[in-house]
Amino acid sequence: MRPITEKQIRTSFVNSSLRERKELVLPENLGELDWENLDYLGWRDRKYLNLGYVLAQIDDQLVGVVMRQADAQTRSRPLCNWCESVQDNNDVVFFSARRAGPAGRNGNTLGTLVCSGFECSANVRILPPTPYEGFDHAAARQRRSETLQLNVYAFLSAVLRQG
Ligand SMILES: [Zn+2]
Repeated sequence: MRPITEKQIRTSFVNSSLRERKELVLPENLGELDWENLDYLGWRDRKYLNLGYVLAQIDDQLVGVVMRQADAQTRSRPLCNWCESVQDNNDVVFFSARRAGPAGRNGNTLGTLVCSGFECSANVRILPPTPYEGFDHAAARQRRSETLQLNVYAFLSAVLRQG
């Protein structure tokens, strides 16, 4: 994704209150992120531990969504809905996001299973073991990255749709 600034981050959220936007704790390493290898920007709040933030460019517009980790029990080894990573040590949790606008204010939320620290971009870039000779790793990685972007796009679009 393209590099973004603190101001862009704070003005991009579609499902948060003014107070939440003011209080959110930015990612520690914002100035040093490897943007080229990020399909979306996601991080956990260091102060409000159950909160996370996800930002992605959708049709050239930066869309940010506040995510809340829910206590809901997940099945023993859930799969991240976004990166679909099968890494053994991948921690996946259930997040819910308020929908944008009046629907969200009325308590309407959307839920999804996502890597607990939003490691999806790194996960899709981990090289799979070579399944056969001549397997094109670069193409496989590109495909997984595109799938991840589409999954995030679908989720953020659904949050925006409000109903
Ligand atoms: Zn993931």
